[in-house]
This record gives sequence, C-alpha cells and structure tokens, in this order.
Amino acid sequence: MNHDVFKDLAPNYIEKLTSEETNKQMEKHMEQCEECREYIKGMQEDLSVKRTREYKKENRNIDYLKKVRSKNRKKIFTIAGSLVSLFLILSIGYYVLFVHMWIADKNNVDTSIQQKGATVTVSFQSKQDNRYLVAMRHEEKQGYIDGIIIYENWNIFSDSKLNQFSELAKARQNGDSITYTFLDENTLLLDNGEKKKLTDEDKIRIQYKDSAKEIRLKDLYNAKNSR
Ligand SMILES: [Zn+2]
Repeated sequence: MNHDVFKDLAPNYIEKLTSEETNKQMEKHMEQCEECREYIKGMQEDLSVKRTREYKKENRNIDYLKKVRSKNRKKIFTIAGSLVSLFLILSIGYYVLFVHMWIADKNNVDTSIQQKGATVTVSFQSKQDNRYLVAMRHEEKQGYIDGIIIYENWNIFSDSKLNQFSELAKARQNGDSITYTFLDENTLLLDNGEKKKLTDEDKIRIQYKDSAKEIRLKDLYNAKNSR
C-alpha cells in the first residue's frame, strides 16, 4: 500500500468504516511508515476534539432548553398562583359582603307597624347606615306562630349617591318588611288563600340575637305605630 492510497482511506479508517482486510493492510503500512502513523494520529486527535466540541454544544443546547422550560414552569406557577389568590379574595369578599349574615341585635333594629286599609306591614330598619336587614319567615306549628328571624348584613351601598335622592330608596336599602292582610280585625288572610280566625294564641315571634319579641296578630290590626 502506498501513501496516497493510505491517505485516501484514512478518513474512513478513523470512522471505522473500512473492512477488516483494509484495516490489516493499513496497520501493516503504519508499522513501516512513520509519516502515515503521525497522519492517522493527527486525524484521530482532530476527530476527538470535534466530538468533544459537539458534545459540549449539545449539552449547552440541553441546558438552554432546561432553563427555558423551568422559566416557563415558574411563569405558569406564578400565573396559576395569582389566579387562585384572586379567586379566593373575590370569593371571600363576595361571601362577606353578600352571603354571610348574622342575626341582628334588637338594639340595632327599628320596628314599625303601618296599616293601609286591611294590610298591615311590619317593617324592620337598621339603625346603622352601613347595615341592612333581611326578615326571614318560618312558621312554627304551635298554634299559629309566625316566626321571623331578623338577619343583618353589611350594606356596601350605604354611601352610594342613589340613596341621597330618595328616602324611600334608603329605607328599602336598610330594611325589610313583612305584610299581613286582614279580612277583619279577627281574621287573617294567609298566603295560601286560607282564612285564619285569630285567637290570643296567634302571634308573630320576632327573633333577634339574644332576645325575641312576640306580638299578638290580633294586636297588629289597628295597632298604633309601636316599637
Ligand atoms: Zn506511508
């Protein structure tokens, strides 16, 4: 084998693409020829430098991808965290302002009874501007007792300009009322259309936080505006 053939085959040899027979002949030539030995050595060194460089570059690309991925992951976590926090804040705010109610203290409630013809309205007004009241009815089946529980809640609209225009709007914002329709002073027309003859046992019971107030239904009719 001469030098030229050896150099032609060298690139394939270092990539291990040459046949066994060719390898044998090339190794035989290298034993005798220092120049070709050095030539192969140089090529092998170049190859290993090239491979190391490629390996480093690959690693750098992987590092870059990892960094991008972890950055993206951080971003997603941050966004998700913010959304969860926002949702919690809104839910708690909504609950506190609109859902959560407590039973009102009697001292904070103005009760008034008004009659128009046969209709008697029992109104509950909050004495505090920043609260409003809700009257919830439930019938207690001992005799005829109309149970009313007075709930209180924050009134976030108390300062709104709307209320300054009309006292009625303000009254509506702060309170609630229950209406009774009488056929005569001893007969009540129930919601279901039945007529109820009233006895002394028939009353409404207004439940406050620590106390309850009972009013005989009979007394509602022609009642003076009582508190
Ligand atoms: Zn040679």
